[in-house]
Amino acid sequence: MRLLVVEDDKDLAGQLRRALSDAGYAVDLAGDGEEGHFLGDTEPYDAVILDLGLPILDGITVLRRWREDGRNMPVLILTARDRWSDKVSGIDAGADDYLGKPFHMEEMLARMRALLRRTAGHASNEIQCGALRLDIAAAKVSLDGRLVNLTALEFRLLSYLMHHQGKVISRTELVEHLYEQDFDKDSNTIEVFIGRLRRKTKADLIETVRGLGYRLTVADEV
Ligand code: CA
Repeated sequence: MRLLVVEDDKDLAGQLRRALSDAGYAVDLAGDGEEGHFLGDTEPYDAVILDLGLPILDGITVLRRWREDGRNMPVLILTARDRWSDKVSGIDAGADDYLGKPFHMEEMLARMRALLRRTAGHASNEIQCGALRLDIAAAKVSLDGRLVNLTALEFRLLSYLMHHQGKVISRTELVEHLYEQDFDKDSNTIEVFIGRLRRKTKADLIETVRGLGYRLTVADEV
């Protein structure tokens, strides 16, 4: 999962990036509304954290422009505490959730998990695929009840496939949703990671769809 954080307060932006990276997400930062709008307009983020008070272009305008252009990624807005009118304008402009400053990083993470799983159509914090189980809150995957030891990138990849299980996901899509903006992206490395995941999980769970990509599937129960 790859996220965009648009926040001009450098300290807060740094804290958000750290908390989200530790939780397993790829994170891009933008420090003003113009850059934030551009990134959200051109990169396929799984979700966005958007501050409302931003230099150059304010958060409400950024959000309204994205929505007018059909950009429908989930957006969590950051508002000043007790500014209920900000929350109303934000939600009316197309925000999916809000957090009043100051907030606890744990609450931000919980709201982000909820946004991501709801967007992918999952109601609970556990996603099951055959013998594989993803515990979203703990950021852990188990196979037949045993914990699977994964690196950060392997987890990100498997988590993405599990959120979107049953769908064919192209290598390009995986690259776009796993790596941060300034990362040297190479879609060949995806194959390497898929190979490692197959060795660590049941090899037949991740299917290669020739010429199209990969699909996480559950074999029909006998
Ligand atoms: Ca601000």
